[in-house]
Amino acid sequence: MDLTLDTPVQYVPRIGPARAQLLEKLGISTAGDLLFHPPHRYNDFSLVSDIGKVQPGETVTVAGSVRFAKNLLTKSGRRMQMVSVSDPTGSLEAVFFNQPFLVRTFLPGTPVRMAGEVSWFGRKIALMSPEYEINNTGQPLHTGRLVPVYPETGGISSKWLRGRISYLLSEIGSSITDHLTPAVLSDWQLVSLADAVRMMHFPENQTEAAEAKRRLAYDELLTMQLSAILARRQWEQSVTAHRVPVKDSQRQVFLKSLPFKLTGDQHKALDDISADFGKTYPMHRLLEGDVGSGKTIVATAAVYDVYKAGFQSVLMAPTEILAQQHYETVSRFLTPLGVRVALITGSYKSEMTLNSGQGSLTGGFGPAYDVFVGTHALLSASVTFDRIALIVIDEQQRFGVAQRRLLRNKASSNVAPHLLTMTATPIPRTVALTLWGNLDISVISQMPTGRMPVKTWVVPSDKRDKAYVWIRSRLSNDNAQAFIVCPLIEESETLTSVRSVKKEYDRLRREVFPDLRLALLHGKMKPAEKTRILAGLRERQSDILVATPVVEVGIDIPDATVMMIEAADRFGLGQLHQLRGRVGRRDKESYCLLFTESEDEGTIERLKALETHHNGAELAEIDLTIRGPGELFGTRQHGLPRLRYGSFMDSGLLHETRHAALKLVAADPALSGVPLLREKLERSTIGDSGFD
Ligand code: ADP
Ligand code: MG
Repeated sequence: MDLTLDTPVQYVPRIGPARAQLLEKLGISTAGDLLFHPPHRYNDFSLVSDIGKVQPGETVTVAGSVRFAKNLLTKSGRRMQMVSVSDPTGSLEAVFFNQPFLVRTFLPGTPVRMAGEVSWFGRKIALMSPEYEINNTGQPLHTGRLVPVYPETGGISSKWLRGRISYLLSEIGSSITDHLTPAVLSDWQLVSLADAVRMMHFPENQTEAAEAKRRLAYDELLTMQLSAILARRQWEQSVTAHRVPVKDSQRQVFLKSLPFKLTGDQHKALDDISADFGKTYPMHRLLEGDVGSGKTIVATAAVYDVYKAGFQSVLMAPTEILAQQHYETVSRFLTPLGVRVALITGSYKSEMTLNSGQGSLTGGFGPAYDVFVGTHALLSASVTFDRIALIVIDEQQRFGVAQRRLLRNKASSNVAPHLLTMTATPIPRTVALTLWGNLDISVISQMPTGRMPVKTWVVPSDKRDKAYVWIRSRLSNDNAQAFIVCPLIEESETLTSVRSVKKEYDRLRREVFPDLRLALLHGKMKPAEKTRILAGLRERQSDILVATPVVEVGIDIPDATVMMIEAADRFGLGQLHQLRGRVGRRDKESYCLLFTESEDEGTIERLKALETHHNGAELAEIDLTIRGPGELFGTRQHGLPRLRYGSFMDSGLLHETRHAALKLVAADPALSGVPLLREKLERSTIGDSGFD
């Protein structure tokens, strides 16, 4: 069989079915996949030195022949191999451990290259566990150059990968065709694809390695940018929207009915939405704003506009508690203006149907309401909506693409509804545009006036008792309420963590606050029970709510001014900030106490960032530098695609590729000048274009 890029990897010489199965785990199924497998770093073994000149501390490659190799036993009983290598300038020992077979590999006289760090070994210098290659007098593979180190999996070592990749490069490397034209390449200052692949595995120097990475990352991001841009064009040209005229006078009616004045950013977001409502294609906007910045009221204003235009809206929240709360907010502001608000959640929909007097669910109680607030129960097949012109999704990253699509399809007419999604998670603009280039973004970065930053302290374990005394005094002096949050022990709310929060609740109730009224809330409770407990809290039937982080998103309890978080070190700063956002939502002085048993300086330092920083985006940034991107973009929360070459942190390249993609599409909307690129795009299955 002729070897090509599409050849299944098991047919590549010296791979076979067993190895192919292991490679599958690395996402490699064809010869081409293997060729495009990127190293995650390089060992710099490019300094080739005469043996007589090596210095301790240097990382070098030496070439010579084996003088002798022997097995030794160290004082501690470890098996050690000592191999002596010489060239005309001198000789040097290499030391290995627990590889007794090496003495048969390093037969005296064998030509050998070794690479590694030169260290002191007793009184002599030696190479400790170096990389080596024997009998290779041709191009060095594992030494004498920038040696790529690949992400590995059991049974597949970097050394083995280097061998197979180098073989493939020489056999089919030149058959890699570029999907970009020479003109485009020079315009964007990119090396050709074939060169990039070669330079990725065999860079002459760091510059070449960087150029290779840039080209491949560029391709990866460009593809995403183009799919987003093209999807948007298609959307704008082929999908029509309900017309929602926004009259200034009607806006004023709504704004005048509010007990407060909107912030400048809230006004700006509303203006953006009004402008979208005037277009021929549906809005697709992300409303991003820190916790407590007042996103809900912006959405409520939009709902009112839609009502005035004679249409219905849907407001979907990720949890029952939040849906309930949104229902109350929307009702409070809009019922006096004549808007009929429905709540549809797992536990409420049947009740509502009965009360609606509009017959069965399937028969459609739809017309009786102007806005439906709810959870994913809104998606349940039997509920149909007639005249939905606006869909608002809170904390949108918690909903999957499939759910969003379903919700959208609920609108029975062939005209698509406007879509407004809201999030408190700061997603850098460049990242959002790359992933959802079809999204418009409004950011609320201003807090309502009168908000005071939540006073925050990190509390070490020896101050615990004092802190309890302090909390008690706050509750009695300020007539306030408090949250005590215990962390999830695992990612999801397991029984163990529920048990631990129950235990803590019992302890607090018996030993610490026996005279106060405590309530317990955790994710394993029935939705109706959660709702009951939160309603009780809001109506002051309890003083302290002990909870797992289910209180994280959105809950609004007016009199809660104290937030105490147990084992705060287990949370990311962004998450802590979200939790803290449950208090300080009014003009009352509020407090956040971060308990930690950790004595690690770095951990405490990290937590202390919350004492001085009160902006979610800044905190996410800090966590990013301390803990890496996992924290900012927990894949679990965001479902961001994994990039092979590029990084969502590389805002420079995100910018550059976006501009390149826009320019390309503007000049040549059908991409007829770059047919191979167009084909590649059509083949690519890059996730959520947001328009499905
Ligand atoms: P989030 O953006 O976190 O969803 P909310 O919409 O829940 O924030 O608003 C938080 C609180 O601030 C609510 O009680 C809301 O009524 C209030 N609020 C919103 N906008 C303003 C404003 N401009 N001035 C004063 N209070 C406001
Ligand atoms: Mg909210």
